Amino acid sequence: LPAAAATPDINELIALLPRREGAEFLADCSVTEMTVGSEVHRPGDRLDSVLFPLTGYLSLVSRRPDTPGIEVGMVGSEGMLGVHVGLGLSAVPLLVLVQGAGTALTLSAAAFRKRLAASAALQRILDRYVGSLLSQFATSAVCLRFHKIVPRLARWLLMSQDRARSAVFPATHQFLSYMLGVRRAGVTEAAGTLQQLGAIHYQRGVVTVLDRSLLEGAACSCYRVERAAHQEAMAPAQRAR
Ligand SMILES: [Zn+2]
Repeated sequence: LPAAAATPDINELIALLPRREGAEFLADCSVTEMTVGSEVHRPGDRLDSVLFPLTGYLSLVSRRPDTPGIEVGMVGSEGMLGVHVGLGLSAVPLLVLVQGAGTALTLSAAAFRKRLAASAALQRILDRYVGSLLSQFATSAVCLRFHKIVPRLARWLLMSQDRARSAVFPATHQFLSYMLGVRRAGVTEAAGTLQQLGAIHYQRGVVTVLDRSLLEGAACSCYRVERAAHQEAMAPAQRAR
């Protein structure tokens, strides 16, 4: 694995650490490649390592034996997978899938715990991020119950674009139906609506955002609410320069 320090991509949580501490933290990490659709974590499994996405992003899916999975959160370079480890837990009660291919920094849960115990700055950053994640889950509950499929799809596409850091990103029909909790026909119809609007182009499992402001106009309020909640949660953690 290449040394983490060699990569120019950043994870925003690690970037909040004081410079020297950030460099030491990176020295503990290695870079891992994430492949679309792969399962990074299954509910009940032990979490042996934590992930700080760089260019890739993850989908957090809640699933019960008697229900299909439904996406309750998304994690890209603004966050991490494994806050549970920091809270003293060894498992995440979620299915975690790679939604966007790319890279992530990884380190063992043991190394992460050690760093966390020794760093007040890292503890503060993690606390704030847990707050942001709680907002994200709460927003998802409202969105899934009360918002219609087209505004939800628009929100989901904006969240994906932010994490892909590109106007072009993958989103297969199957994946979308899974993530939005609707049948594939429902996805086709909703994507068609956004396409007619001129907001996106969607073909062969690839989304191209043509007009971001149109997409923002079509999205439910959850997108803005959640972005603001994340910024507010993380603001006091900003690195003192
Ligand atoms: Zn919503």
